[in-house]
Amino acid sequence: MKKGTKKYYVETYGCQMNKYDSELVAGILNQHGYHQVRSAQESDLVLVNTCSVRQHAENRVFGRLDALRLLKLKHPDLIIGVLGCMAVRLQDELLTQKPFVNFVLGPDNYRKLPGLLSKLNNGSGQNQLKLAEFDNHEIYSELYPSRTSGISAWVAIMRGCNNFCSYCIVPYVRGRERSRLAKDIVAEVQQLVQENFVEVTLLGQNVNSYHNGDHDFADLIEMVANVPGIIRVRFATSHPKDLSEKLIDTIAGHPKICNHLHLPVQSGSDTILKLMNRKYTRSHYLKLIKTAREKIQDLGLYTDIIVGFPGETEKDFQDTLGLVRQVEFDGVFVFKYSPREGTAVYGLEETLTEQEKVKRLQTLNQIQDEITLRRNQQLIGTVQRILVEGASKKAKFNQYMGRTESNKIFVFDSNKKVDGSLLDVKVISAEGRTLFSELL
Ligand code: SAM
Ligand code: SF4
Repeated sequence: MKKGTKKYYVETYGCQMNKYDSELVAGILNQHGYHQVRSAQESDLVLVNTCSVRQHAENRVFGRLDALRLLKLKHPDLIIGVLGCMAVRLQDELLTQKPFVNFVLGPDNYRKLPGLLSKLNNGSGQNQLKLAEFDNHEIYSELYPSRTSGISAWVAIMRGCNNFCSYCIVPYVRGRERSRLAKDIVAEVQQLVQENFVEVTLLGQNVNSYHNGDHDFADLIEMVANVPGIIRVRFATSHPKDLSEKLIDTIAGHPKICNHLHLPVQSGSDTILKLMNRKYTRSHYLKLIKTAREKIQDLGLYTDIIVGFPGETEKDFQDTLGLVRQVEFDGVFVFKYSPREGTAVYGLEETLTEQEKVKRLQTLNQIQDEITLRRNQQLIGTVQRILVEGASKKAKFNQYMGRTESNKIFVFDSNKKVDGSLLDVKVISAEGRTLFSELL
């Protein structure tokens, strides 16, 4: 990077937590006089914030890095840094196999970024650096992320994970679980209101195990929902083993906490759940759903499922399909099992071919698509309250997009600018996961 030039571009792969982290890194760089730009081509520094949860995510990053190598051939001063989970999991491998990458920086080391950049900049001859240690005290609590303005913001309430699901790389690349102080989280949300955000999503790998001082997650979410100016609070992700009745009651009882639950079940087979080290059974999960649906009105229920886990038989898969048919989720995110080196089940013989995994993924998606459509069609003719997020992505000129509390996506036409408004719409039709509606 040329001295005096400080334009950076951040590109993010993976989950919402990574998106939050990219905003955190942007906040750190902005404080040090750097300036964010909209494309790698315009920048002196490209940061690629990466995900290691599945091989596919890593392959995408490798492909992207190769494209950045070509950009660097044209602009030899360009600095390329890899952040996030791959910076920990593949630290040395990345630096050797991709010699044009200047540094890897793990999720607990972001506040050291300006120092690292000045080392690269000071003509010391060092053109590859690595900072990827864990710091189990790092929660970045006093730092403020730099967000693109909007109506909805992510707020990390904790970092790391202690659950060690047997397939999952997260605890190995993000370290142990630690929670931020409730007062710091509330202060961040108050600041967000000053910036005209009206909705927040509280983030953690397992928000249900949030704990700091006297406050558990139910206490925290209530404190956040009580911040004046906040209209809606969401949260992700909930682990079924820690979803308490107190939390269900809190969601049910507070008008600003959305009736939206993302509760990954992963499998409908007790044998597989045990092998996954999930620490709950199918019947426990079903009981939770029953209680949540009884107490929380019009609950929007979403889940994650992994197909093709080592040893998953046709009977196990049928158990999962049976659970999906029984529960009738509003949405399911289905993933093919991806072996992750270092996890407890890595090396277990895979009992399905890639084709069989794909088949199971497609079968499950098809069943869920029918359920989603049927549930959405039941809403035709009803009036729903949505928070407008902005222009619809496939925007016709005056088409807007908004969500219900239960996380259903609506599009509608409006001649007036309505971003950030809470509006009532009448449902006209349902297509795929989208509901078409008209303003009342
Ligand atoms: N902490 C959250 C939880 O426990 O539900 C989710 C975190 S993980 C980044 C998101 C989803 O990725 C998981 O719910 C799981 O379905 C999926 N996942 C994690 N490891 C995987 C693997 N090795 N192969 C395929 N899917 C995986
Ligand atoms: Fe991974 Fe399980 Fe932790 Fe979620 S709870 S991040 S799936 S180890």
